[in-house]
Amino acid sequence: MANIVEHLINGQTVSVSETRQQDVFNPATGEVTKQVALASKTTVEEAISAAEAAFPAWRNTSPPKRMQVMFKLKYLLEQNADKICEMITDEHGKVHNDAMGELGRAIENVEFACGAPHLLKGEHSKNVGTSVDSWSEFQPLGVTAGITPFNFPAMVPFWMWPLAVVAGNTFVLKPSERTPSASMFMAKLAHEAGLPPGVLNVVNGDKEAVDTLLHDPRVQAVSFVGSTPVAEYIYSTGTANGKRVQALGGAKNHAIVMPDADMDNAVSALMGAAYGSCGERCMAIPVVVAVGEETGNAVVAKIKAQLDVLKVGPGSDNDNDMGPLVTQQHYDKVKGYVDLGVEEGAELVADGRNFKIEGYENGFFLGGCMFDHVKPGMKIYQDEIFGPVLCVVRVETQQEAMDLIDAHEYGNGTCIFTRDGEAARYFTDNIKVGMVGVNIPLPVPVSYHSFGGWKRSLFGDLSIYGPDGIRFYTRRKTITQRWPSSNMREGAAFSFPSNI
Ligand code: NAD
Repeated sequence: MANIVEHLINGQTVSVSETRQQDVFNPATGEVTKQVALASKTTVEEAISAAEAAFPAWRNTSPPKRMQVMFKLKYLLEQNADKICEMITDEHGKVHNDAMGELGRAIENVEFACGAPHLLKGEHSKNVGTSVDSWSEFQPLGVTAGITPFNFPAMVPFWMWPLAVVAGNTFVLKPSERTPSASMFMAKLAHEAGLPPGVLNVVNGDKEAVDTLLHDPRVQAVSFVGSTPVAEYIYSTGTANGKRVQALGGAKNHAIVMPDADMDNAVSALMGAAYGSCGERCMAIPVVVAVGEETGNAVVAKIKAQLDVLKVGPGSDNDNDMGPLVTQQHYDKVKGYVDLGVEEGAELVADGRNFKIEGYENGFFLGGCMFDHVKPGMKIYQDEIFGPVLCVVRVETQQEAMDLIDAHEYGNGTCIFTRDGEAARYFTDNIKVGMVGVNIPLPVPVSYHSFGGWKRSLFGDLSIYGPDGIRFYTRRKTITQRWPSSNMREGAAFSFPSNI
């Protein structure tokens, strides 16, 4: 029987009745390794029905019991870490150790969700009036949904569903059709950890599945992470249908290198941030803004020297620094941008376009690329390329560098390399970006903070996971209660109640 990634509905693997399927590739070999089922509207509706049916009992399950499932899940994820990371490498292409880092961040979100009984505590005021007490509590919404991108098959779904379910909601997850296996396997582990059937459902699919989630009135809230055009569509369609939506989009993160920076440390940090995971991270650094001519010359020369020894190869070998791109289609897109940069007049200092590895000739490998003297008007500067292509822009002052960042349509992450506390403080205080690093190239917030960009990197009012995640998946109810003493008699009150 063909290897097919199916759906998980009501705790059961659902064999596919639909005819639509899509190839899943091993990016290192270029081979089709399996098929993924593309759910029809009917299949997604089945998953929503299962989530709706599971909600009343799960809502009334005590938060400490929900928390216990998360504790067991953490253990199972750790036990199965190698297996999960092999699945990620086989479908995404990233190096196994990089996948381990991703999984670690997924587990961090489970650890945060273990704090649910504390996180769901409300607010209480006694005697807001005579014999009147008032409190706020945070109630679950009902059926919630998540739609995730290809580049973090373990971590991004875990930005969503553990918090949603620990807060008492039920969930329908639609993972990326390019990297479906890890999300599905981890959902099965959650059932092994004691999650009741129907509380977490996984449907694989494409636009048809997503549109069903966006239009079904039973879905109360949608979390999305992916590219900006789709994020904008999800936000406008979901909110038009009365849903709460948080939609995280694309990025073009800039790193400023100041003349006083520790250049060797900055360059090492930039290598990992620009080329790690083949540049397929929403917090990657694809733009370096060098302040001053000498800084620019040093950064370009040092990165070029490191690119000459960058180890590119299959992600299953932990000796490699960088694996392949995710699909042939994405490879063609990224390579097309390198061609375009040359046409636009940027100086291609490192050219990875003819990179080949013996034994992996059909893999989607692109070597590390770097452009110098990139100008803000160029498409290679403006667009999110999402590959191992670094653009170096040269400016004269910190303010010029910051103005560039502020003018860019995206505002996900940024960082500055400097030894000057005043420059760093001015940067963190004023830059129009949601996640900011100082001598930290990938300032991805830990699970007990929240993750979210500004400008066209996030549509919605709340960031994802952490404290904002709890607020996103709950709604406040405020109760005002009087238990009058038996000798208290009141007449009808026609004026608006005040605190007496
Ligand atoms: P994508 O937007 O192509 O796909 C994301 C999800 O949306 C997938 O599940 C896909 O099936 C679905 N989808 C795609 N096209 C759709 C359509 N027309 N209608 C409805 N649903 C659709 O993104 P991707 O290529 O999988 O992931 C890479 C992108 O995600 C990059 O832009 C990256 O910056 C972004 N990303 C952002 C963050 C963040 O936190 N801001 C994190 C990771 C990735």
